[in-house]
Amino acid sequence: MHDRPVERRIHDFGEVDTGITPEEAMAESGRCLQCKKPLCVKGCPVGIDIPTFLREVAAGNFKKAAVIIKEQNMLPAICGRVCPQEEQCEGECILGKKEEPIPIGELERFVADQEREHGMVLPRKKPTTGRRVAVVGAGPAGLTAAAELARMGYHVTLFESLHAAGGVLMYGIPAFRLPKQIVKAEIDAVLLLGVDLKLNHLAGRSVTIKELLDYDAVFLGTGAGLPYFMGLPGENLPGVYSANEFLARVNLMHADRFPVFDTPVKRGSRVVVAGGGNVAMDAARVALRLGGKVTLVYRRREEDLPARAAEVARAKEEGIEFVSCANPVRILGDQAVTGVECVKMEMCALDSSGRPEPAPIEGSRFTIDADIFIAAIGQGPNPLLISLLPELKRGKRGNVIVDEEFRTSMRKVYAGGDVATGAATVILAMGAAKSAAHAIDRMLREE
Ligand code: FAD
Ligand code: SF4
Repeated sequence: MHDRPVERRIHDFGEVDTGITPEEAMAESGRCLQCKKPLCVKGCPVGIDIPTFLREVAAGNFKKAAVIIKEQNMLPAICGRVCPQEEQCEGECILGKKEEPIPIGELERFVADQEREHGMVLPRKKPTTGRRVAVVGAGPAGLTAAAELARMGYHVTLFESLHAAGGVLMYGIPAFRLPKQIVKAEIDAVLLLGVDLKLNHLAGRSVTIKELLDYDAVFLGTGAGLPYFMGLPGENLPGVYSANEFLARVNLMHADRFPVFDTPVKRGSRVVVAGGGNVAMDAARVALRLGGKVTLVYRRREEDLPARAAEVARAKEEGIEFVSCANPVRILGDQAVTGVECVKMEMCALDSSGRPEPAPIEGSRFTIDADIFIAAIGQGPNPLLISLLPELKRGKRGNVIVDEEFRTSMRKVYAGGDVATGAATVILAMGAAKSAAHAIDRMLREE
């Protein structure tokens, strides 16, 4: 990885990792053993033919490599940047047992960047079937389902409630990790497959349920955008944000450029972020770039942080202060936030997730000065549309229940991504959407 120097990158939203050179890409790909039974492919939720694309990169055939990747994944520049490859393809790479695994994510990103600069390639497409499918939500799940169905010859209408497609890729993940022009270019390629994108269309309101169910099949990819709060005293004070709101205002509505754009966000001089996942890291690093001194409070130990290790390391390099084994208990302030009272936590017996359960230590309260508090403790499925479909079976956390074919309890209605799993990852959403698209195709053919 080639990261921009800390002292420069913390003042702007430019990409942190500048990527690898063609020479480095060819040398790294050349280390691939071209395994007969490649474990890396098993670790890829969308099944990219990794050894073949690496062989082409090693030979300098970057365009051919892009064609191979695009057969399985329409969003490679995005996945190359944000997927947790260390737990997937790279985590499985046989070379990792003795030396460094192949940096498959960096290479996927390299190939996709080359493709974008030298002319996008489109995967093969079948003739039209004359059937219509509605896809709701233009995040990674909806975009993947739409692309896959369009390639199989379906007329796809993709409904998105916001004024821009991309879901979390646009409004959640900050530009310094995922530049927005790159997201836009990959969405444009999906649209070139013939997908009919309808922005500002809120399914359940401006698109009625009847209109949706008139399609031959429906795929729900409405994501998990409903933020959880901690239920703390003082949570209604001005200066308290959910990470979702804070990030959406900056990433999608350019609050960092207020008043040029008219969505303000308070720039804190002392910011406390609660949480330890990717969302918490992103919120903390955005607040830092807006000029704040940022403290991240996490209730477990540092080694339990669920965020990607590379992003934790970058957050630390950039100057985010980590306070682990601590939990906010009260937001202080009268008219606005002035501080966050926290309690220290001790680790007890393992919980159902296999991690030690944190418990507060009596008499250990302490205060951190703050004028902004950001809760990044998780989010649940967007409730609007699914609550209008009472026949849709839902789990305890409001997630849509699907079977192994991604069928919901409603006939011809499928679902995948965060709306079914709860907050997860881009590639898991894409893998689910791809399988659901093929299940829809089988169902419509059997009809
Ligand atoms: P979403 O991306 O949430 O997309 C759902 C879309 O549906 C949205 O555009 C929404 O506007 C639209 N929608 C909702 N309801 C309706 C309706 N009624 N009508 C029309 N449209 C509707 N994952 C990683 O793999 N790596 C990371 O580094 C990473 N970082 C993250 C950082 C942040 C800040 C966040 C919030 C998440 C991160 N994730 C990361 C998780 C990942 O982004 C999600 O798992 C993924 O985006 C889920 O995709 P999705 O398509 O299911 O949902
Ligand atoms: Fe190459 Fe590693 Fe995959 Fe083997 S497991 S084919 S070495 S990337």
